[in-house]
Amino acid sequence: MESINKECEEPPGKAKPPHPWAHVPVEQWADWRWQVGHRLNSAEDLAQVIHLTPSEQSALDASGCFRTAITPYFASLMDPDDPNCSIRRQVIPTDKELVPFQAEMDDSLAEDSQSPVPGLVHRYPDRVLMLVTTQCASYCRYCTRSRVVGNAHAQFSNADYQRQIAYIAANPQVRDVLISGGDPLMLSLKVLERLLEQLRAIPHVEVIRIGTRVPIFLPQRIDDELVDILKRYHPLWMNIHINHPKELTPESEAAIAKLADAGIPLGSQTVLLAGINDCPNVMMALVHKLVKNRVRPYYLYQCDLVHGAGHFRTPVAKGIEIMEALRGHTSGFAIPTYVIDAPSGGGKIPILPNYMLSMSDSRVVVRNFEGFVSAYTQPTDYQAHDPATCVHCQTHQSEGGQEGVASLLNGERLVIAPQDWEQLHRREQPFIAVSSAPKQAEEVSR
Ligand SMILES: *Cc1c(COP(=O)(O)O)cnc(C)c1O
Repeated sequence: MESINKECEEPPGKAKPPHPWAHVPVEQWADWRWQVGHRLNSAEDLAQVIHLTPSEQSALDASGCFRTAITPYFASLMDPDDPNCSIRRQVIPTDKELVPFQAEMDDSLAEDSQSPVPGLVHRYPDRVLMLVTTQCASYCRYCTRSRVVGNAHAQFSNADYQRQIAYIAANPQVRDVLISGGDPLMLSLKVLERLLEQLRAIPHVEVIRIGTRVPIFLPQRIDDELVDILKRYHPLWMNIHINHPKELTPESEAAIAKLADAGIPLGSQTVLLAGINDCPNVMMALVHKLVKNRVRPYYLYQCDLVHGAGHFRTPVAKGIEIMEALRGHTSGFAIPTYVIDAPSGGGKIPILPNYMLSMSDSRVVVRNFEGFVSAYTQPTDYQAHDPATCVHCQTHQSEGGQEGVASLLNGERLVIAPQDWEQLHRREQPFIAVSSAPKQAEEVSR
């Protein structure tokens, strides 16, 4: 009884290392530098801690496989005997990773072609994604940036950072900077603080965000020194990549609590992964655990069309089924937005079950999560908003061509047409398929 109580009093992170690391001194186990220095990288390393399957063994031995590195802490969460373990599947390759699939790409989000300077993706009107490192604490097998991430020889230099910052400084519409990578919390504190300081010095940068998985892979890194730096650059938000309730351990929960106590609003980003969290009940358990830890579920991502990730993809229907199981059944703030990050740089597109069934000019027919169908009566005496008397309308800035469908609604535009739409509909020339033989094309032009 006494010893149990004593164990409960141990602060998380100072707990005894689990088997097979029982010989490691507690101070080393709790030291993030030790964790990074002792990552498991090879079949040889991993065979010491789990029973490798032939499929895992051959993928680990294959050359050209995306980098493997797993902190001992995260590896300690794996089931050594269950190849389907949801922790294990996220970080240990299998030979399925080497199987190409239809529609796969290296850069499925077209980030490279939407970068005005290396590492800076400016896709949305008012915010940018700033990639600051290629290194992570551990590597996810389905990494959407496996084309650059994990490569020790492709690092961002200070010159790259300065070009990124100069671009942001020169573009006053950028009010939100999302620092990602790789994992920005793997940078040295000096480099990280310099970046935060330079971004904060730009008057139009209102919000800084960090995307990270360090609280999950390397919770020891979230120490007072790091948190003291972060909280000097408010408003600073953070999104943590979390896929499964098992990832929320006493150690990661303590790291998350430190961040929340520092006033950092926390969100989670979850990737929908076959065999890992493609289940409404797993997802419900995850979102409940997240909100208990003051983390607001932010996005649930459909798995990208990225090379090596084919076996993690689910039908979109699975995501819809999960959203149907969440909305109404639990707290609204526990429900993420399910998105497809559209191929070729289309960006995040929300996908959800249909709740609006029909409408007339007087009524909208909606259904709730229980299947209860009701009619909402629309007003007949609505006084339309008057932009002429609205200070926000009067000072509204153009989005430089990205006004989109909203501009059709507000009357700025009448159409959005595909490229060459007008020319196509003039039908002056017979349609020539791209695959036409040159001879046919010649005949046409004669
Ligand atoms: C996801 C993403 C953002 C941020 O999008 P939010 O919906 O604001 O979270 C910004 N830029 C790029 C390129 C992104 O992929």
